[in-house]
Amino acid sequence: MSEPVTAYLGLGSNLGDREDNLDRALALLAAKVNLEAVSSIYETEPVGYEKQPLFLNLVCRIATGLSPGHLLQLAKETEAGLGRAASFVNAPRPIDIDILVYGNRIIETQELTVPHPRLKERAFVIVPLAEIAPDLVVPGLRQRISCLAAGVEGLDGVRKYKGGFDVSAIRGRAL
Ligand code: ADP
Ligand code: MG
Repeated sequence: MSEPVTAYLGLGSNLGDREDNLDRALALLAAKVNLEAVSSIYETEPVGYEKQPLFLNLVCRIATGLSPGHLLQLAKETEAGLGRAASFVNAPRPIDIDILVYGNRIIETQELTVPHPRLKERAFVIVPLAEIAPDLVVPGLRQRISCLAAGVEGLDGVRKYKGGFDVSAIRGRAL
């Protein structure tokens, strides 16, 4: 473990009890990293493969000494813990966890691209991110998140569903 880095994760669920999936994923993550902030939950229209149920999405901010590779491993373990079998990109899933941003690092390896390459065109990521990090300038992108949120396509497909999770309650449950 090295110095903690601030990272942002995007979570999405469109199978089963979607809200419970998000809640359980956050608790699993909070057992391993410092969960600092969680956005509201948004209900969003699927992008890419459209004949599937609506998603619930949120974004959280964490601080962690885990390396990017270990954080990806944690994300995958958490997905597996909630019953996600590997299928295809954009497929329906109980939980999808993407690393959106990892400090100011730009990473391009075979298994990991950070900042997430489709972040800036995905309203279901940008809108919740703007809620918890409006002033963030993502490495490689020039505009603040709040500016990107004002201009992103597909805003009408992203609707607020429920106010934010109680972060301290999630952290308490994770202990
Ligand atoms: P998607 O989220 O695009 O629907 P998956 O969740 O199935 O796709 O992810 C496929 C692969 O994407 C993962 O196995 C992982 O190695 C890779 N990947 C690349 N960059 C990232 C990132 N920033 N966050 C999460 N996974 C990533
Ligand atoms: Mg993913």
